[in-house]
Amino acid sequence: ETIEEQDDPASLVPRPPVVTVMGHVDHGKTTLLDAIRKTRVAAQEAGGITQHIGAYQVELDGRFITFLDTPGHEAFTAMRARGAKVTDIVVLVVAADDGVMPQTLEALSHARDAGVPIIVAVNKIDKPDANPDRVKQELAEHGLIPEEWGGDTIFVHVSALRHQGIDELLEMILLVAEMRELRANPNKRARGTVIEAKLDRGRGPVATVLVQNGTLKVGDALVVGTIYGRVRSMHDHLGRRLTEAGPSTPVEITGLEDVPEAGDAFMVFEDDAKAKQIAEERALKKREQELKKKHVSLDELFSQIQQGDTKELALILKADVHGSVEALRAAIEKIKVEGVRVRIVHAGVGAINESDVMLASAARAVIIGFNVRPDANAKAIAEREKIDIRLYNVIYKAIEEIEAALKGLLEPVYEEKVIGMAEVRQTFFASRVGTIAGLYVTEGKITRDAHVRVIRDGIVIHDGKIESLKRFKDDVREVTQGYECGLKIQGYNDVKEGDLIEAYVMEAVPQA
Ligand code: GDP
Repeated sequence: ETIEEQDDPASLVPRPPVVTVMGHVDHGKTTLLDAIRKTRVAAQEAGGITQHIGAYQVELDGRFITFLDTPGHEAFTAMRARGAKVTDIVVLVVAADDGVMPQTLEALSHARDAGVPIIVAVNKIDKPDANPDRVKQELAEHGLIPEEWGGDTIFVHVSALRHQGIDELLEMILLVAEMRELRANPNKRARGTVIEAKLDRGRGPVATVLVQNGTLKVGDALVVGTIYGRVRSMHDHLGRRLTEAGPSTPVEITGLEDVPEAGDAFMVFEDDAKAKQIAEERALKKREQELKKKHVSLDELFSQIQQGDTKELALILKADVHGSVEALRAAIEKIKVEGVRVRIVHAGVGAINESDVMLASAARAVIIGFNVRPDANAKAIAEREKIDIRLYNVIYKAIEEIEAALKGLLEPVYEEKVIGMAEVRQTFFASRVGTIAGLYVTEGKITRDAHVRVIRDGIVIHDGKIESLKRFKDDVREVTQGYECGLKIQGYNDVKEGDLIEAYVMEAVPQA
């Protein structure tokens, strides 16, 4: 495949910035994207019918800005995990009445890990209980210091609902873009990234692509991921038919042979034959790579460090309470192994979620969970993306293992092995015995000699031993998947309907 030739600096011209809006749920991301579109697009394009194509472009005094229309750090990082670098600037929306929330911090970690500059939009400034200074204070604590306090983060006060502060926000985006000197060469064959794609009954595969360099033209032969195509038609977000699209322009195209995935790269080739050949080669390579897809594990990351591929071990920390996050972080920061840096990509409270797994995939990080579990969605994605999730309930154990991995001495004497999962369907209280949980075993088995953890909303709230395990009136040695049983945990009576029970055993690991 052709190595991209360097663009001659003389051929480069400024291109519009591409912006992603992120922030906590309900802080106003969607409303802000609508407000920007309404104030800057609909008015000037009277009569135009705006289409949702996954991205749109606005104009401010002859200068353009492209907005990705799927807000949130999940979409952003899912694209990164596929190797796509699309966003130039992140607008972090924080509601002035609510302040910094968990997903605000997630978004911050995701943007930082990608090295994308952040502009803060303090939203809902119209509300009587809006407190923008508190937002600044809270973000400053996480390293986003406002310019007016001597830092370099731009904060803009907006009301997405009342369309206030929108132009100022756009001005600031253009200012940051100017400092970044975003440039591209419009006079060559296009390449870029798929923003979204679907199968349309009438038109066949339809994809919104962002042109990142060059100019895309109707009739161009291209390869998207592993799919061949020829641009049959091209439309912008106003439904206007285009014949060509330059750098940073999002366009909806038809003419692909199949539906690509968001984050897939596209590239135009000189002719049909070449594009077809490349598509076939890539499809073959992809099948090979899928077969070889490797687990990103602590041990492997260590061997890469030794081979000099990586000089750092990236970690994502999740724990049950704020105190554990900080204790874990402090202990990890103390680990000193020569020549290796441990970088904490993100740290937060709560169950391991999809966002953590996608970030781990993009950052090639290992996830360390302390007294927490992945939720079902995260678990499935971690399996698909082959992300190493390591779960602990003792801080020093986590530290020992990380240290050992860094020194190449990962040899646990005992290894925890999860043998089964069950749901608490009912609970009974017996006066002399305590609370008995009526379980339904959903995976594997529960054995009388196993340890059990009680998990509520993804958080481990108890870890202990079994006092009794019964089916009907009989004590049993084990209960397997698909069966019900009664469980009494030693010294613990707070189990509730809806809790999950994880059963595990400690297995001796042969020493090398
Ligand atoms: P998202 O989850 O971040 O996309 O949030 P939405 O855009 O859906 O907004 C959540 C709620 O906040 C909606 O009821 C909006 O009407 C409201 N909202 C958004 N922006 C503002 C604002 O500037 N002022 C006020 N008062 N409400 C807002």
